[in-house]
Amino acid sequence: MPFNDHYVIIGNGPAGNHAARTLRKKDKDAKITIISDERVPYYYKPKLTNFIADEIAKEDLMVNFLNSYKAKDIRIRLGQEVERIDSESKTLFLQHMEKINYSKLIIASGSRARVLPAMSRYANHLKFVTSYTDVMAVKEEIRKAKDFFIFGGDLVGFKFLRLLNSMGKTVTILIYPNAFWPYNLTDNMLAQITESLSKFKVDVIVKDDISIIDDKNGLYRVKTQKGIEKNVDMVFSFNGLIPNIDFAKGSGVDIDHGILVNEYLKTNVDSIYACGSCAQIYNPSIKSYTTSIGWPNAVVQGEVAAFNLLGDHKIIESVGRKYFDLEGVKIKTIWWEDIDDEV
Ligand SMILES: Cc1cc2nc3c(=O)[nH]c(=O)nc-3n(C[C@H](O)[C@H](O)[C@H](O)COP(=O)(O)OP(=O)(O)OC[C@H]3O[C@@H](n4cnc5c(N)ncnc54)[C@H](O)[C@@H]3O)c2cc1C
Repeated sequence: MPFNDHYVIIGNGPAGNHAARTLRKKDKDAKITIISDERVPYYYKPKLTNFIADEIAKEDLMVNFLNSYKAKDIRIRLGQEVERIDSESKTLFLQHMEKINYSKLIIASGSRARVLPAMSRYANHLKFVTSYTDVMAVKEEIRKAKDFFIFGGDLVGFKFLRLLNSMGKTVTILIYPNAFWPYNLTDNMLAQITESLSKFKVDVIVKDDISIIDDKNGLYRVKTQKGIEKNVDMVFSFNGLIPNIDFAKGSGVDIDHGILVNEYLKTNVDSIYACGSCAQIYNPSIKSYTTSIGWPNAVVQGEVAAFNLLGDHKIIESVGRKYFDLEGVKIKTIWWEDIDDEV
């Protein structure tokens, strides 16, 4: 019986799905498996805020339904978390004690909310908008709630603030200069953002920090170090994202903030590639590593990782530099695009 490769992809976002499609186009016989710890098929994260506001239905959030994986003969395992990789025996250990063997592996595990050290002891009180699972846990509560407190001020945070405003909610935001990590907002930028937000019904707090959050009779009392006090229904944190890489620790794959890969998206282990927002990619032109954000970046990287895994030598386009708008402040950074629906 001929030996068919088993390509396994950890992650069901744009990087993982574009890797899987590319692998299938180039190799008709291989077994291809995508594993995701979420219980939902491939969906548009950028549309999560529209979904919260009921501007779109669940069907419009989906890129893929289950039958489209089947049509491409791609196996999808939902609700299954990878806990550990043994790169010697090429085995993945899943949380529910199952083991999966691979011949080649693509890590496309994306990122999760970054909680600032000052906020970590209040983590139980904080809500996030980083995934469908997060959103389903808070959607109904958001609809009923009136008063909100936001800590942070990354791109998604401002998007969420505008959404709450359009829903007629009352919002207070404490902007941390390093919320859009790894960038630091200067005093001048903070002043411009505050000015730009004045058109919304929002109280803006800058140059202050958390003092306490406590939970009383179903309301949160939020107090800042300068003594500002608010009673709110929900508290959200938007302080950027950090790569989901805990399961790769101890696997022999080199990691730093993300999974370290060269310009071909290959890790230090021959059979393992990484792409999308979990990867930290070597950029030969600046002789350093950069982490990428944004949907289009993840799409391109998924495709390139798949080509290279099959023996190609495509160099990932050095992460494109671009200006974008953070509430009127232009910041030069890596890609973040308005996405078009995939076909
Ligand atoms: C609310 C929101 C709005 C956004 N808006 C925009 C926008 O307007 N424009 C833009 O360009 N970008 C936007 N982004 C960013 C964009 O969605 C991400 O850059 C992109 O999704 C990254 O793709 P990825 O495939 O690398 O990772 P992800 O899409 O994060 O996918 C990672 C996958 O890995 C799975 N996973 C992680 N760990 C494990 C594990 N241990 N075991 C099994 N599975 C695991 C996850 O469940 C998920 O399926 C937004 C993000 C959010 C949260």
